[in-house]
Amino acid sequence: MIAAPHMLVGAAIGNSIKNYYFAGILAFISHFILDAIPHWGYIDDLTQVKKRDFKLAAIDFAIGIILILVLFFGELKINFMLILIGIFGSLLPDFLLVLLSFFPESKFLSKFDLIHDRFHKKSLNKFTGITTQILTILLTLLTI
Ligand SMILES: [Zn+2]
Repeated sequence: MIAAPHMLVGAAIGNSIKNYYFAGILAFISHFILDAIPHWGYIDDLTQVKKRDFKLAAIDFAIGIILILVLFFGELKINFMLILIGIFGSLLPDFLLVLLSFFPESKFLSKFDLIHDRFHKKSLNKFTGITTQILTILLTLLTI
């Protein structure tokens, strides 16, 4: 999935799980569950990112941040550290893959790439792939 749904789910986990470690671990696991849902992505291979990909990723990340700020702005009971940990955990798997493009010799990152690929399902077409991500965002909004 693109970053925004991962971030939103991670933030929701951080908001629900009041333990820093479990929030991070569950958000990390959520990444693989979301990636198993057929989806569309603007980056073909995270291990070989291009300049264009960074621009799109920045827009994607900004959309995620805006969604989260709009959702949680003004909430007094929110622990922003838990939400940040949830966001970090949810994005960490893809971040590790991007590191692989800078450190292609890393055995750890190469093995992690294989594990990530086992869970990762791409959609056959753009419409279905975008729809599954919009549904993920809407379902997450209902749980917050
Ligand atoms: Zn991923």
